[in-house]
Amino acid sequence: MNLHTKAVHAGDRKPAQKQIPVSTPVHFAASWICTDQAEQDRIFGAEEKGFAYSRYANPTNEALEQQITALENGHGALACATGMVALQHALTAVLLDRPRRVLCARDIYGATLKLLYDVLGPFGIETTLIDTNDLDAVRRAIESEHPGALLMETISNPLLRVGDIPALAQLCRASNVAFIVDNTFATPLLVRPLELGAHIVVHSSTKYLSGHGDAMGGLIVSGEPHFETIRRLSRIVGPILGPMECFLTMRGIKTFPLRMERQCANARSLAAWLRTHPKVERVFYPDDPSHPDAAIIARTLPENLYGGMVSFEIGDASKPEVFAFLDRLQLCVKATSLGDVHTMVLHPWIASHRDVPPKQKERMGLRENLVRFSIGIEHIDDIIADIHQALA
Ligand SMILES: *Cc1c(COP(=O)(O)O)cnc(C)c1O
Repeated sequence: MNLHTKAVHAGDRKPAQKQIPVSTPVHFAASWICTDQAEQDRIFGAEEKGFAYSRYANPTNEALEQQITALENGHGALACATGMVALQHALTAVLLDRPRRVLCARDIYGATLKLLYDVLGPFGIETTLIDTNDLDAVRRAIESEHPGALLMETISNPLLRVGDIPALAQLCRASNVAFIVDNTFATPLLVRPLELGAHIVVHSSTKYLSGHGDAMGGLIVSGEPHFETIRRLSRIVGPILGPMECFLTMRGIKTFPLRMERQCANARSLAAWLRTHPKVERVFYPDDPSHPDAAIIARTLPENLYGGMVSFEIGDASKPEVFAFLDRLQLCVKATSLGDVHTMVLHPWIASHRDVPPKQKERMGLRENLVRFSIGIEHIDDIIADIHQALA
């Protein structure tokens, strides 16, 4: 056998092992060998489940998809390369046979706004921003604008507003509006939107689900009606996550409930401490009885699990004073992203919400003196000590 032939055959494709590995192997194969054309015919015709080409299906991806489907109580899932491409794919799937207008929560991730305006807008998909906490406004907008989809986040960024998913789901279902919920901040430990009537859940698994800041990823979980379309389009476009990231995400998800419980407990303790600090003006955390959505929170979030995000305003700090506070932090990691095992902090004004127009920031109630913490799994005393010395 020639060297060129050996280079592409040797070592690979050993006969299937008798023993089953305890974790799903990372299947880097792009395609699967066809030993029986009749079987291949049935696989291509979707009459039989099987693997032919990794853009269609891959065993490592499938294992992660089954895992998140189980956690969100969905019908099926698609693992995507990023949270953003998962959002784009979900929107494309539902708008295929619906009016090309998206009703989108006013409080939403900055890149999601850019997706709507800069990517989907030029293709004729229009966006209306709305306060999803104002049910009457949502009802009126559905009646007057006939949107094809409603998009919101379970817990909004960075002011941690919580919407009434069951009531919004009812409005959507009465008017054939596809209801998509970005559940990144809440995770299925706190809220499972599909159980509350949403049609599709999207995650940036880059955040809490992976949890270690080492794997990008997005997950779409859907009920039965939309799943076929999501998969059919994915077979064509292939917005899929690579098998290595699928493996890392699955591995992360195994410990996510434990991490999230600790992050929620730490965040709650930190919020309580911040409320007593003379230099802290306002604390945003959903356990607050005076939170504008307190009644919805009591119905929606489990007791003691209010999420791992805490935002607060520092006195009447100017931008340089906020910068100085951030520069003094020693332990808290100053980096974009959230949901990692380590505590992270960012300044929404210059980072996540940099491109949001000033008027829009004002309507949201987003001020320059706001900092947003994603609380990690460290000991709470060490987190507080770091913030304490930096506030001094
Ligand atoms: C990070 C994030 C996204 C985007 O996810 P990527 O994995 O960065 O593409 C979407 N929604 C929310 C709420 C996020 O925090």
